[in-house]
Amino acid sequence: MTDSATPRRRPATLAAQALGVTDQATGAIIPPIHITTTYERAADNTYPHGLSYARPDNPTAQHVEAVITALEGGSHSMVFASGMAAAVAAFEALPRPAHIIAPKVMYWGLRLWLTQDAPAQGLEVSFVDMTDLDAVAHAIQAGRTRMIWAETPGNPMWDVLDVRALSNMAHGAGALLGVDSTAATPILTQPLTLGADVVMHSATKYLNGHSDVLAGSLTFAREDSYAQRASAVRNHTGAIIGAFEAALLLRGLRTLHVRVAAQCRNAMAIAKHMGRLTPVTHVLYPGLETHPGHAIAARQMDGGFGGMLSLRFAGGAAAAMRVAAGVKVWKRATSLGGIESLIEHRASIEGPSTPVPDDLLRLSVGIEDADDLIADLERAIMES
Ligand code: PLP
Repeated sequence: MTDSATPRRRPATLAAQALGVTDQATGAIIPPIHITTTYERAADNTYPHGLSYARPDNPTAQHVEAVITALEGGSHSMVFASGMAAAVAAFEALPRPAHIIAPKVMYWGLRLWLTQDAPAQGLEVSFVDMTDLDAVAHAIQAGRTRMIWAETPGNPMWDVLDVRALSNMAHGAGALLGVDSTAATPILTQPLTLGADVVMHSATKYLNGHSDVLAGSLTFAREDSYAQRASAVRNHTGAIIGAFEAALLLRGLRTLHVRVAAQCRNAMAIAKHMGRLTPVTHVLYPGLETHPGHAIAARQMDGGFGGMLSLRFAGGAAAAMRVAAGVKVWKRATSLGGIESLIEHRASIEGPSTPVPDDLLRLSVGIEDADDLIADLERAIMES
């Protein structure tokens, strides 16, 4: 394989060409999918290509990892079978006992794991409103806090967290800062350049972008004992992505920059329009100047404010449900970051313990025509 990505290229070039790698054996612009599970030893018993078995070593997955590393500006990346597998590995790699600080409102599935499963593994978690830096400082346990975990913008209220400030606080306490940057994508925010130690993505979302792959990633600031431990967790648990999924993810990554740009444009247009409709009491979108996190977002996000927003309704849960049922262009489904627009009543999927208000609909904005999306949603809202 050849690598024409040196000297360093900009994100659009890195993504579109998947680092400019071509297959040396055939000249193929798109590399082959490596489905082998094992590799031949040489006469001297060594592995001439440094690859032994597919759980730790798959060239298709490694190519994806190299692209994500280049986009995030990290030392190296690891891809996983899902975003959850990646996030859980980030926590399982911590030395024990460990105290973790995580946002009060965050991706619900990971919050469940932190609440229900982590304590049995020597991981104690404090959930804090992390937009309040004093509250974070107050939650730090000297000598015990091993990680501050941020999600920004955070699901599904789209709170914006100050990565630079949180990294200073974490490092001051001898802890790591981990960032779930799924909603921001490396196109809009590169947390490692703001001081984070590890960045996690549900690659199921924007990185792949086509709602047809389940995957996750961790990108590390350094090759150190923490990163090595995370690698061991992936290897021991077998939480690795399959070769076909890796190839699909690599294809999705090639258009990340154009998809995200279109999604940011559409989301901003929708957010502005929905704010004018009387049944809508709140438009939660970091791109709006009225959003409490707008100033941090404007500093921390480059090129747009993302494709995710939420709406709250004067008519409460019943009105929100009627809107979700009334749309025709939007698809009523969970997940986010795909090219098609999705709408979802979050409290329904999160259940009674959710901190999410029941009058809220989460919108994942796709790349369709913004006017079609606005007209469909406005009609459903006015008829609700
Ligand atoms: N983090 C965020 C912000 C998410 O939205 C999700 C999934 O919805 C996850 C993590 C978990 O990722 P996955 O579903 O790929 O396991």
